[in-house]
Amino acid sequence: MTQVTRGRARVADHGGGVRSIEVPIPDNPLGHTLVYVVDTDRGPVLVDTGWDDPASWDTLADGLRRIGTDVADVHGVVLTHHHPDHHGLSGRVREASGAWLAMHAADTAVVRRTREAEPGAWLDYLAAKLAAVGAPESHLGPLREARARRSGRVLPGLRAALPDREIVPGDLLPLPGRRLRAIWTPGHTPGHVCLHLEERHPSGRPGHGRLFSGDHLLPGITPHIGLYEDPDAATETDPPPSSRLRSNRGDPLGDYVSSLERVGRLGVAEVLPAHQHAFPDAASRVRELLAHHESRLRDLLTLLSSEPLTPWDLAVRMEWNRPWADIPYGSRNIAVSEAEAHVRRLVKQGRAEAIPGTHPLTYRAV
Ligand SMILES: [Zn+2]
Ligand SMILES: [Zn+2]
Repeated sequence: MTQVTRGRARVADHGGGVRSIEVPIPDNPLGHTLVYVVDTDRGPVLVDTGWDDPASWDTLADGLRRIGTDVADVHGVVLTHHHPDHHGLSGRVREASGAWLAMHAADTAVVRRTREAEPGAWLDYLAAKLAAVGAPESHLGPLREARARRSGRVLPGLRAALPDREIVPGDLLPLPGRRLRAIWTPGHTPGHVCLHLEERHPSGRPGHGRLFSGDHLLPGITPHIGLYEDPDAATETDPPPSSRLRSNRGDPLGDYVSSLERVGRLGVAEVLPAHQHAFPDAASRVRELLAHHESRLRDLLTLLSSEPLTPWDLAVRMEWNRPWADIPYGSRNIAVSEAEAHVRRLVKQGRAEAIPGTHPLTYRAV
């Protein structure tokens, strides 16, 4: 792989008609999203697009020019998932090129619900969800204040582009002259997909092609596994009469573990993730991530063995990369979602149970 920095856009050539552009994510420690550009007989197809920000858009457009094409030439966009660092610029790319946008139906449903929900409904949903897992009043206050100010700015991606094609798991995507197969990998989001480029590695490296892994499999980051966001579904203690999508929220960590095992079995020669850098050994990274989550589950079980706890209590007691007191507001919401995903996994495994009649729902070890 050769890496060149010219002007603003950092572009890398991965060989075999695959390039990447580092599209910056403003004010985020992740730094950038790697947008992959796959040559096809009908023009370039992008895997993800990047954050919706003027500088990010300029970088994407500049990067495409640097690799000898143009945003107007883009034939299609394959989206690994709905998060704004992946799907943010899709609408602008479609406007500039007429490209199709493809996403798994479960994530398209999230995009559709988010577009249809009023910002206030999202804030109500978040407040209800946090209250149900035991967040204290001091944490809920800012959400209620934002609601009173009618501010939805805390939530990026409220008006993200609606995809016009569905990614069907197991199917080949419509990339003329290429073989790119969709692998459904729910966990990070309900409709996350990895894309398997079923072609010989350009260097002749042994293995079965290459995998665009989105946020599912990253070399040095453990992707967030929380509950799937669904403003139409109420909390466990207060289900609405017609919540057909609640099953979606069941066991995201269980989904993730199965999805990891699925991509581990592909035996790919190289992984092309959406952040950080390409890496060769998918199977050993899969093993590390599985071990990480199992040790996390054991830690939670130890906590639940000494006293019954809510997901919020667990989040406060779990080990993070810094003390709870130093974790910013938004990250605490993510942390508690992660704690709840883990405790649900323990319940599914029969290692913990919810104590009937508790509000907020409190768990104990079995
Ligand atoms: Zn993501
Ligand atoms: Zn991401």
